[in-house]
Amino acid sequence: MTQAALDLVIAALETIRRESERGPRASRAVLARLQSNDPLALPLETLASLPERPLQVSQNKEGLLTAIRERVRSCTKCEHLACSRTQTVFGVGNPDADLMFIGEAPGVDEDQQGEPFVGRAGQLLTKIIKAMNFAREDVYIANILKCRPDTPPGSFGNRPPTPTEMQTCRPYLVEQINIIQPSVLVALGAVAVEGLLGIRGTMREVRGRWHTYNGIPLMITYHPAYLLRNQAPSEKRKVWEDMLQVLERLDRPISERQRNYFL
Ligand code: SF4
Repeated sequence: MTQAALDLVIAALETIRRESERGPRASRAVLARLQSNDPLALPLETLASLPERPLQVSQNKEGLLTAIRERVRSCTKCEHLACSRTQTVFGVGNPDADLMFIGEAPGVDEDQQGEPFVGRAGQLLTKIIKAMNFAREDVYIANILKCRPDTPPGSFGNRPPTPTEMQTCRPYLVEQINIIQPSVLVALGAVAVEGLLGIRGTMREVRGRWHTYNGIPLMITYHPAYLLRNQAPSEKRKVWEDMLQVLERLDRPISERQRNYFL
């Protein structure tokens, strides 16, 4: 099988995965044939002895993401951040995710744990994801910046990334999005919007409506940290309404309970 033909098969399987409720399945035998340069040469008894398992279209994506993760792990493009970070925070979730959330940068908790959105704001994001009837493992979560923005010794809290830092780190995120190819992107907060689209706008101007990033529908909503600072039900409701739009765009069923939900 030529590489071009193999690419066509994989693209067709990706389409089935996107457009059907159940992902495509294939036996290990078929997988082995697909991966073989001479698929018909595999002995039948070998093929027959291989157990069935779901087709892992994501295996390839996982491998590609791992390669970027390794480059990020040793990245020193921002010398000051490479010196101050505990570790890089690459991203987490399903490489085949239909839905991808993008935040701005790791905070102190994320820097410690090596995973995005694990602090208080992250717990609120997880709550939002669950209210949307997803598990955190179903979606993909990443930040514009993979290192925590440094802060002066003795100071508390986090600082937003600078435009230069975002510009420097952005290519890694672009690679992540290109590999995952989600159906919908959600940018959390004005900094994420600036990092992703390169535009500075107030959230009032850009939030709650559809934008596009590289052909992918992009919803802009408030960062969960904003909701922690501003507990007004009206603000929480705005975020939830944005998420209802996302569910509609993903063709996910929305229950009456979800429609009436307040974060
Ligand atoms: S923020 Fe991004 S570009 Fe800068 S050092 Fe960290 S990984 Fe590298």
